[in-house]
Amino acid sequence: MKIVILSRGPQLYSTQSLLRAGMRRGHQVRIIDHVNCHFTIQKGRMSIFHDGFLVDTPDAIIPRIGSSVTAKGAAVIAQFEAMNMITTVRSMALLQARDKLRCLQKLASCGIDVPKTAYLHNNEHLPAVINQLGGLPVVIKLLESTHGVGVILAETLKTAESTIEVFQKLRERVLLQEFIEESNGADIRVLVVAGKVVAAMKRQAQAGEFRSNLHRGASAEAVRITQQEKNLVIRATKIMGLDIAGVDLLRSERGPLVMEINASPGLEGIETITKVDVAGQVIRYLESRYRLKKEYANQ
Ligand code: ADP
Repeated sequence: MKIVILSRGPQLYSTQSLLRAGMRRGHQVRIIDHVNCHFTIQKGRMSIFHDGFLVDTPDAIIPRIGSSVTAKGAAVIAQFEAMNMITTVRSMALLQARDKLRCLQKLASCGIDVPKTAYLHNNEHLPAVINQLGGLPVVIKLLESTHGVGVILAETLKTAESTIEVFQKLRERVLLQEFIEESNGADIRVLVVAGKVVAAMKRQAQAGEFRSNLHRGASAEAVRITQQEKNLVIRATKIMGLDIAGVDLLRSERGPLVMEINASPGLEGIETITKVDVAGQVIRYLESRYRLKKEYANQ
């Protein structure tokens, strides 16, 4: 197969791991930067150029799109889709998963348990909203947050008010969420490939910190997840139209909750901690999609 990895960082762990896994399995793999792509659209003729040169049509793409360039990356994926290429993530699924609010709305409306969440435009009804979430403390999240930056625990009404006020001044949209205290600063990252759970790790925040992001110094270990958690994760990824995803769970008193779904999950933490060759599984998933496509074309 000819595989293109869309990545802005050829040296990044995930990009390198996918590159090596593809080459190990005998494929031609090329990395291109989606931000340096342009494309042309005309009836019967769709083309993609990288650094001004026509990209030789691949069989499959592996988009690794950072959150700062989601829209640009999704446009490039959509062009590859229009050219009938196999992709590990479809453009619409990426856009939907990147929008934390839509993601929670869709999951909850399909019967997936998520932390109770509120979205508000101003502080006018804040005490009532906090009550609806079950009272203080509450977690305040920037809709655009990554690596836990912009995730704040507000223990008092005053803190919640002033935090929301600051974010509003900065024209940032925020979510309020019930604080799942019993998760004790831990969450579970579950990796799904081809609609199956392939690896899971538990991340534990440092002492005095509730955010368990590895970028914030959390520790991690491989973990076995329950059948209930597996079923939840698989259903959630199906609802979001993702065959490959990183799903973050919080273990709460009322059972596992889906906190977030990452459509372009990093591989460094999960591969290093669990020793599972996730990149190899991604390549095998592409191979099976490619085989199916060829069989269908030959019918
Ligand atoms: P980001 O996308 O920036 O990483 P998250 O929503 O994943 O933001 O939150 C960062 C971390 O904060 C999570 O990994 C989790 O440990 C903690 N956290 C987030 N929301 C809650 C919550 N409602 N209750 C308890 N802990 C939470």
